[in-house]
Amino acid sequence: MSTRMRLAGWYTGLCGVALAPLALCLINLDPGRGFWVNLSVAAGFVALSLLGLQFLLAARWPRATTPFGADVVLQFHRQMTALIVLLALGHPIVLFLWDSRFLHLLDLVDAPVRARLAVLSIVALLALVVTSRWRRVFRLSYSTWQALHAGLALIVVGAALAHVLLIGYYVDQVWEKALWVFYTAAFVWIGFWVRVVKPFQRHRRRLTVVAVHEEAGGSLRLELRPATTAARKAMTFSPGQFAWIMVGRSPFAITYHPFSYASSALHTERLTFIVRAFGSFTSALADVRPGEPVYIDGPWGHFSPDRVAAKGWVLIAGGVGITPMLSILLTRRDRGDTRPAWLFYGARDQESLIAWEQLRALADDPAVTLVPVLSRAGEGWTGERGRVDAGLLRRHLPDDLTGLHAYVCGPPAMMDASCEAAVDVGLAERSVHSERFAMV
Ligand SMILES: Cc1cc2nc3c(=O)[nH]c(=O)nc-3n(C[C@H](O)[C@H](O)[C@H](O)COP(=O)(O)OP(=O)(O)OC[C@H]3O[C@@H](n4cnc5c(N)ncnc54)[C@H](O)[C@@H]3O)c2cc1C
Repeated sequence: MSTRMRLAGWYTGLCGVALAPLALCLINLDPGRGFWVNLSVAAGFVALSLLGLQFLLAARWPRATTPFGADVVLQFHRQMTALIVLLALGHPIVLFLWDSRFLHLLDLVDAPVRARLAVLSIVALLALVVTSRWRRVFRLSYSTWQALHAGLALIVVGAALAHVLLIGYYVDQVWEKALWVFYTAAFVWIGFWVRVVKPFQRHRRRLTVVAVHEEAGGSLRLELRPATTAARKAMTFSPGQFAWIMVGRSPFAITYHPFSYASSALHTERLTFIVRAFGSFTSALADVRPGEPVYIDGPWGHFSPDRVAAKGWVLIAGGVGITPMLSILLTRRDRGDTRPAWLFYGARDQESLIAWEQLRALADDPAVTLVPVLSRAGEGWTGERGRVDAGLLRRHLPDDLTGLHAYVCGPPAMMDASCEAAVDVGLAERSVHSERFAMV
């Protein structure tokens, strides 16, 4: 099925879930409550249905994520949140504007429990948005934020559901009750699937660390092999993709970290990840020893040349953004692929060039052009200096770029400049693909 058709299917399903409670309300619409009250209730119902769907989007369910890519789904998750906040705030605001007597519901001492639950739900929703938007300002580590995010999301939905059921209007008919029981069961099932079923699956498909080596640029190379038969069967991936991994702890850990596969997609008996120390998780990997279990959730991602027919590839990497390119080039070699590839690799200095010996060996193939670009090169450096820009690309690429696709991965500023440069030299915008390591 084409991505466009899947997209249409998902939008239809999404609208169906969001609007189903309204359709059922129409069966016994209470005219006595008036247009504005009904509008306010409608906003609340749609907000609640969409909130439930947010769990599905965040659950990394392959059917929902694979056709569009994890980053696109995450972006959609954020946009939906903006809509939910508008609807959730609109629900009480319309009521208060319509009749100021409703304001007494804000009196947390005397207001009925159902109103207090609504306030709790909205406060938790706002806290969730603020801590997500300004996570760095609050100095929340990613794992603390993720635990907080999950906890707040449960409070938002749980309190809102209890609010709806306690009020009872529009949920007292058999079909309305059935719908909300179904929605609640679905929310609970998603939580159970994410936190219990998936970790068990990962346990069955766990890997083992076989070696840990220091790499250039303050990074580590982790070599892994499947620890179980189930893992051996589940180890396929496409070059350029990534997996969420957790080392050593139980598979039930809340936070998994995304890393691109850095090995050939044809040699799944041994996987490589190259990790640059960044924060707490990546720095702690220095203490990992052979024999430790690794839990993996993957493959994920759209950043793979396997997804489009190309006559050759322009690969542009910065720093640890080299990892997907390494996988792309190793897989190309192992497949006996003869299509040309140009790798522009930006780094600070010679010592920061990750997997340099491996890359040089790959460039023994005359169809592979390796162009390291150093921003702070030492005196003896005879190669390119500075940054990847249109001038540099023109110096090394052929005049005819027809059929070439570019893949860009690296620090955000470098990626923006490189994507622009790739278009400037004549590549079509749709032929320039990028992977952002700072997804959240
Ligand atoms: C698709 C993708 C592929 C990646 N591939 C590699 C790779 O091959 N090699 C490499 O060194 N790094 C890679 N990264 C980056 C790596 O995931 C982060 O550096 C790492 O998770 C940081 O965790 P930390 O606890 O050390 O640092 P923290 O200080 O906790 O996090 C630093 C930043 O990393 C991001 N981050 C942290 N945890 C997560 C998470 N669970 N999910 C999403 N983002 C998170 C956040 O933006 C956070 O602000 C990749 C990221 C993505 C999104």
